[in-house]
Amino acid sequence: MFYDVTDNPKKIKRLNAAIMFAMNECDLTDREGYILFQFHDDEDMNGSYGFAHGDNLDNEYNVELNADKPSKDIISTIFHEMVHIKQINEGRLIQGIGFKRSRWNGKVWEGDSYMEYPWEIEAYEQERVMIEKWNTIL
Ligand SMILES: [Zn+2]
Repeated sequence: MFYDVTDNPKKIKRLNAAIMFAMNECDLTDREGYILFQFHDDEDMNGSYGFAHGDNLDNEYNVELNADKPSKDIISTIFHEMVHIKQINEGRLIQGIGFKRSRWNGKVWEGDSYMEYPWEIEAYEQERVMIEKWNTIL
């Protein structure tokens, strides 16, 4: 996949290395697609760390990041959001919009609890694995 970063407001060291590392860990490097990483301030993000959206029809994805969080949290958020892009790219996750529920592995997901969403459980788990590996190669 190709990607762009609109800005690197915190001058995060090794931002590109972290993106390429996550892309590789998620097996996305050789897949078709485009990811745009955009930084926003805390107010625009409503305090959240980040989110990813897109679909696998046009294979264009966006990752929105909270520039007011510490650099190490921004890096781990990139790892987390990259897992969601993988899930979307593989057709396992179709994100709900508004009142439309998300679909996971072809089924409408009925649960309401964020931490029980299977795509979040997977993303937090793989984020943790990537952080561990990333810290060993620094
Ligand atoms: Zn998530």
